[in-house]
Amino acid sequence: ISPNPALGQAVKAADRAHVFHSWSAQSLIDPLAVAGAEGSYFWDFEGKRYLDFSSQLVNTNIGHQHPKVVAAIQEQAAKLCTFAPAFAIESRSEAARLIAERTPGDLDKIFFTNGGAEANENAIRMARLHTGRQKVLSTYRSYHGATANAIALTGDPRRWPNETGVSGVVHFWGPYPYRSNFHAENEAQECERALAHLEDTIAFEGPQTVAAIILETVVGTAGILIPPTGYLAGVREICDRYGIVFILDEVMAGFGRTGEWFAADHWGVTPDLLTFAKGVNSGYVPLGGVAISGEIAATFAERPFPGGLTYSGHPLACASAVATINAMAEEGIVENAKHVGETVIGPELRAMAERHPSIGEVRGLGVFWAVELVKNRETREPLTPYNAAGAANAPMAELAAECKKRGLWPFTNMNRFHVVPPCNVTEAEAKEGLAVLDEVLTLTDRHTA
Ligand code: PLP
Repeated sequence: ISPNPALGQAVKAADRAHVFHSWSAQSLIDPLAVAGAEGSYFWDFEGKRYLDFSSQLVNTNIGHQHPKVVAAIQEQAAKLCTFAPAFAIESRSEAARLIAERTPGDLDKIFFTNGGAEANENAIRMARLHTGRQKVLSTYRSYHGATANAIALTGDPRRWPNETGVSGVVHFWGPYPYRSNFHAENEAQECERALAHLEDTIAFEGPQTVAAIILETVVGTAGILIPPTGYLAGVREICDRYGIVFILDEVMAGFGRTGEWFAADHWGVTPDLLTFAKGVNSGYVPLGGVAISGEIAATFAERPFPGGLTYSGHPLACASAVATINAMAEEGIVENAKHVGETVIGPELRAMAERHPSIGEVRGLGVFWAVELVKNRETREPLTPYNAAGAANAPMAELAAECKKRGLWPFTNMNRFHVVPPCNVTEAEAKEGLAVLDEVLTLTDRHTA
C-alpha cells in the first residue's frame, strides 16, 4: 500500500463532478475513493486499510483480486474478449456445465444474464410463458433487483418510489420467527401458519392465475431470514398442487455464502427455476443467470424463447465464473464458509449477545449472519424504526461510522448489521472484525432500556 492522497483527491473530484450514484441523493453522499484491494481487505489513497465485512454488496465470495480469477480474465481477454450469444464459445459452455453440475435436481440448462435483476426478469418471463398465467407472488421481506418486474416483486422500501403500475405482483408474508406475523410461538408453528397464509393468498388470488412464487432461499438484505425446516418443502408441494412455477432467488445466498454451493442444498429442495449472480464469479465481471428445469426448458424446445441480451454469456464473465468455481472447489472455499460460520462467527456473535443488551437476535449460516439490534430485549422494539432516516437512524449510522473509523467495513440495513465477509475469510480475519463489532456495540447498548 503506497499512499497517494493527490490521486485520491482527483478520483474523488471527478466522481463528484460526473458519476451519478445508485440509490442516493447525489449531493448528500461522500464516496470513499478506493486505491486497491486484496483478499478480505481494501484500502484508500491515504493508505488506510479496511477489513471488508460486507463483501461489497455480498458478492466477493472469493475476496478481492483472487490471482487465479484475475489470470483467467487476462487469458480470456487475450484469446476472445466478446462474442454474440448465438455462438458456442468455450468459456460459456464450460461455465454452463460447471453451474449445471452444482445446481440441484434437473436444473441443467443455463440462461446467462448480466446480473441478478435480469436473471429474475427472465425467470418470470419463462414462468409466465410456461404456465400461460400472469401473477407472481413474492414476500414483503425481499429484494429481487431494480429492473421493472424485479423491483415490483421486491418487498423492501426500495419498491415504493418505483411503483409504476407493473401488474400481476402479489406480496405475502414469509416466515420470520423472531417477529412472527402469525403470532407463532415456535418455528414449527411459524412454518405451519406461514404455509397456511400462502395457501389462503393463492386461493383468494385464484390458483389458475398464478404463474410463479419467487422466494429468496435465505432472505438476504431484508434480514438473513432462514426458513424453518419444512417451509420450502411446503412451498414446493403447494406449487406442485396448483401447477405454479417455484423460483428460488439465490443471487445472494448462492455460491458458497451459506456454506453450501446453493442454500437450497440445506433443505434438499429443487425449484423449477433458480436465479444466480454475485458469487458465481464474485462479480469480477458482471454475470448472472437462470438455471432451468427439464420441464421448463422443454417448453422452449420447439417454441422460441422471446428474450435475450447482447452480452448473454459474455466470454470474459464466463471465463471468470469458470475460474471462480474451480478455485472454490480446489481451495475448499464453500467448506471454509461453513467452518468459519460454525466455529467462529456463530459462537462469537452468540457470546456477544450475552454481553450486549442491544443484541436482540443472532441468526445465520456459513458467512451469512444477521445481528438484530433492539432497544429492549423483552419487547423486541427495534433499535431504529423501520426505514428510519436522519436522526431516527442515528444509532445505526453511528455504529457504521465507528466500525469504519476502526478499519472495519460493515454491512448495515435497518436495525441490523450483517456479518458477510468473503467465503474464504480466515478465522483470524473473522475474529479481527468481530472484535471491532464487540467494541462498537457498547455504543448501541447505551440506547437500550
Ligand atoms: N436478488 C437478490 C436476492 C439480491 O440480493 C440482489 C442484489 O442485491 C438481486 C436479486 C439483484 O441483483 P443485481 O443487483 O445484480 O441486479
